Amino acid sequence: MASLRDMNDNTVAEVASLLAPLPTLQLQEYFNQLISSRRCNGIQVKHNGTFGKGVYATSEFQEDELILKDEILVGIQHSSNKVDCLVCSFCFRFVGSIEKQIGRKLYFKNMGLSGSGCCGGGGDSSESEEENNECGGASSSSNHNSLPQGVVSSLMNGEMGLPHTDKFPLPSPLSCPGGCQEAFYCSGSCAEADWESSHSLLCTGEKSESVSREALGEFIKHSNGKDQVLCWLLIAIAFTILRYRKLKAEHVNEQAKQSVSQQSLLLEAWKPVSAGYKRRWWDCIALPDDVDPSDEGAFRTQIKDLACTSLELLKKAIFDIECEALFSLEIYGNIIGMFELNNLDLVVASPVEDYFLYIDDLPDAEKDEAEEITRPFLDALGDEYSDCCQGTAFFPLQSCMNHSCCANAKAFKREEDRDGQAVIIALRRISKNEEVTISYIDEELPYKERQALLADYGFTCKCPKCLEDSTVA
Ligand SMILES: [Zn+2]
Ligand SMILES: [Zn+2]
Ligand SMILES: [Zn+2]
Repeated sequence: MASLRDMNDNTVAEVASLLAPLPTLQLQEYFNQLISSRRCNGIQVKHNGTFGKGVYATSEFQEDELILKDEILVGIQHSSNKVDCLVCSFCFRFVGSIEKQIGRKLYFKNMGLSGSGCCGGGGDSSESEEENNECGGASSSSNHNSLPQGVVSSLMNGEMGLPHTDKFPLPSPLSCPGGCQEAFYCSGSCAEADWESSHSLLCTGEKSESVSREALGEFIKHSNGKDQVLCWLLIAIAFTILRYRKLKAEHVNEQAKQSVSQQSLLLEAWKPVSAGYKRRWWDCIALPDDVDPSDEGAFRTQIKDLACTSLELLKKAIFDIECEALFSLEIYGNIIGMFELNNLDLVVASPVEDYFLYIDDLPDAEKDEAEEITRPFLDALGDEYSDCCQGTAFFPLQSCMNHSCCANAKAFKREEDRDGQAVIIALRRISKNEEVTISYIDEELPYKERQALLADYGFTCKCPKCLEDSTVA
């Protein structure tokens, strides 16, 4: 048996190998596999010396053509958004029914819990990483139009129906098979996929495979009060551990004789996360706007302290000795850094909004008849009738797309895109071998403002538009 000292040295070496950049060839292979699994065959991830990775067209795209539908690798719905939208915990599709969505929202609103986007009182004290959330200032804490709780309950539990909701069918929510009563799914396949990818370790129900459900609950409570990046991190680590166990089981089955080292399996399991990041260490986290530059040192120490505290909780909850390296502070810092640099907003439009727009568009007679019933609900919801599902997610391919202020593609959800996947559409004709670019910021802003925003991503933009603007400025 290895001595404690050896263990430590091994872990140190393992951490170093997890943090070493992936060899170009392995990275290429990983992205090629990912692209073929997404069935988006017109693109390729390539490396170029200056910008690292980039996505290139391998065939021609016409304006408005679909370039990529990228699946979420690790994603979360904002905790404050959970009271506003009931969605599948895996694919983020709305579930239940229009009645249930409205009833549930009004129920929480009557209880004073409705989040209204990011800055509600719904548990997320968001002094956190969300930089570009507009906080719906007109959040109606005044319940000027609140409906009787009995009406709200009967809407929520399906006793009361609203007109024309049959045009907006939603899948019935399935409860988590682990028994946590916190996760819901649109289908058995989503429940299964989530269980396998991370939820079996993160479930607080009786079938949980975590080390301690109590510690898990404590970690989640701690993270919700602090910073959502920690919840995301929990999922990312659980995802890697489960991937490791799966790879190990496959190897035991297939080639019991040929031993593959634990370390190389962990490296393989870690690949999706390691292929994601562009820069290392917490030093790269952009300083939030509300932190004075002179307080930068204190800010970074604060993040480190937060990471230390949550790491201790995380160990109690899901520690796995074979994946010990994942529970080091260095790895922790790197995953946070990756989150800050790569994660994108997860947005799914609400069918409730579509429903009310549909009612509004009905021919006059029908509209009057329907509105007699729907109007009180719309009034009670106020502006929040259109709240969408909001979260943060890591999309492994989209995150390889570089920025341009005159991008040739954009993220755009079409009518049929009803889940959390990222959808990239061509803005104009893109020829073969051309790099596919998206804009990370509002490209209409003046040159100086654009450059300031892009500094947060750690680069100076030298796109044609910036080159031209810089000579004029
Ligand atoms: Zn689903
Ligand atoms: Zn569960
Ligand atoms: Zn530019």
